[in-house]
Amino acid sequence: MSAIPIDTGRREQVAAALRARLPERSVLSDPEDTRPYECDGLAAYRQLPMIVTLPSNEDEVLAILNVCRELNVPIVPRGAGTGLSGGALPILDGVVISTARLNRIVRVDAYARTAIVQPGVRNLAISEACAQYGLYYAPDPSSQIACTIGGNVAENSGGVHCLKYGLTVHNVLRVRVATIDGEIIELGSEALDAPGLDLLAVFIGSEGMLGIVTEVTVKLVPKPATAQVIMASFDDVVTGGDAVASVIAAGIIPAGLEMMDRMSVRMVEPFVKAGYDTDAAAILLCEADGTALEVAEEIERMTRVLRSAGATAIAVSQSEAERMRFWSGRKNAFPAAGRISPDYYCMDGTIPRKKLAQVLTGIEEMERTFGLRCSNVFHAGDGNLHPLILFDANQPGEFERAEAFGAAILALCVEVGGTITGEHGVGMEKINSMCVQFGRKELDMFLAVKRAFDVPMLLNPDKAIPTPHRCAEFGKMHVTKGALPFADLPRF
Ligand SMILES: Cc1cc2nc3c(=O)[nH]c(=O)nc-3n(C[C@H](O)[C@H](O)[C@H](O)COP(=O)(O)OP(=O)(O)OC[C@H]3O[C@@H](n4cnc5c(N)ncnc54)[C@H](O)[C@@H]3O)c2cc1C
Repeated sequence: MSAIPIDTGRREQVAAALRARLPERSVLSDPEDTRPYECDGLAAYRQLPMIVTLPSNEDEVLAILNVCRELNVPIVPRGAGTGLSGGALPILDGVVISTARLNRIVRVDAYARTAIVQPGVRNLAISEACAQYGLYYAPDPSSQIACTIGGNVAENSGGVHCLKYGLTVHNVLRVRVATIDGEIIELGSEALDAPGLDLLAVFIGSEGMLGIVTEVTVKLVPKPATAQVIMASFDDVVTGGDAVASVIAAGIIPAGLEMMDRMSVRMVEPFVKAGYDTDAAAILLCEADGTALEVAEEIERMTRVLRSAGATAIAVSQSEAERMRFWSGRKNAFPAAGRISPDYYCMDGTIPRKKLAQVLTGIEEMERTFGLRCSNVFHAGDGNLHPLILFDANQPGEFERAEAFGAAILALCVEVGGTITGEHGVGMEKINSMCVQFGRKELDMFLAVKRAFDVPMLLNPDKAIPTPHRCAEFGKMHVTKGALPFADLPRF
């Protein structure tokens, strides 16, 4: 909850300017109405926004941007608010632009295998709209029932099927963007390649800091004729981690390759009854999709690789219902964590696949150091970890310990050659970890790109890219292997 009260005079001034240019009921300024927007999926951090706007078309988005620029008001774009890194966390004196009313599927072109959609369209709604043509939109975050394509573009979101079919950046052809100058630009094209610098790739994953997405053209892919999933058990996480590397090394790109450790399996099984092996130290879910022949062949190859990598038990789904049941445990891991712990903190970091075993062992040691439990359920094929740190916010100091635990996991990811995020973005959650990952030169370049799009620095400020001063401050607190980051900067 916001501790500092909003300046009501300022709120009235900005709300009046917005109401003068927008239709009725598009501007919310009463705290009763703005309360639902005070946090995203990272609910430990809350801030009541000064104002929330609900534009219904591109012109209204431009009108909001013009008012905010003229009055120097910071802006936070918001899709469904399922983000896990605080990207849509409001700013005390800022305006939230919600895309909830920009929810139209503009066109599905089955021949070109593309769809043009507004940013507030839910990820799953795209696939539902295309199902009649035997097509679907491949990136499938576990939140796909709720999250929007605008949020997916801003976070470069991934999901179970991204190992084979690519992340958002590989499945978006073109975006229309409303800039802080009140203009529309188009990045990318409907062809495979676009002339000029690849600003589409720069924009995807930019976390609402460069512009407001107003329209997205996505690629569609044919729905596979069939799919089967293998559930393989391992008696230690190191063998399980090495088996992931073996599958990829064998030249197989499964449609999904996910891992759950013992705590996740035991947490989920009583909840969904997926039929998981609760004695295993780790289980792998490996999916094959394609024609019946392709699937049979790949399942046979994966089974062979997993056996020789040390799998202690292997089960293959024999029907669509069984396949869905095997996946149901993985898909429900987050809610299951909520059943056994009052609070949990979901981290997101990526590591080279061959380092999986080392990092999982490191996390186990950290459980003892920080005195908190952690379950691991993740996109193993991509090396994208999702440690769920379990804690109780009502116990003094536990939240701070959970945060420190999370930061230590991210530092380990960087140490083994990985990154501090895989798919959840940086937001405000991991902004200090950016100081661990990057040096001054890289951060300066990121800020220069931000300034090129957003000269007044009003779009989602203070998220994703730390200032040198912030890193200097963080350097005072966080020392990796005795080396102070940004030692050249003045200390205060
Ligand atoms: C249970 C659960 C499971 C999840 N699983 C996954 C997963 O498997 N893979 C994954 O990648 N993520 C996952 N997430 C995280 C989250 O769902 C994704 O990051 C998603 O893309 C956020 O979409 P959203 O519409 O909720 O965006 P929001 O949370 O509203 O916003 C996310 C960011 O996008 C910006 N933004 C939103 N709309 C726009 C726009 N139109 N223009 C510019 N910027 C915009 C916001 O400012 C913010 O920085 C999960 C979250 C939950 C709660």
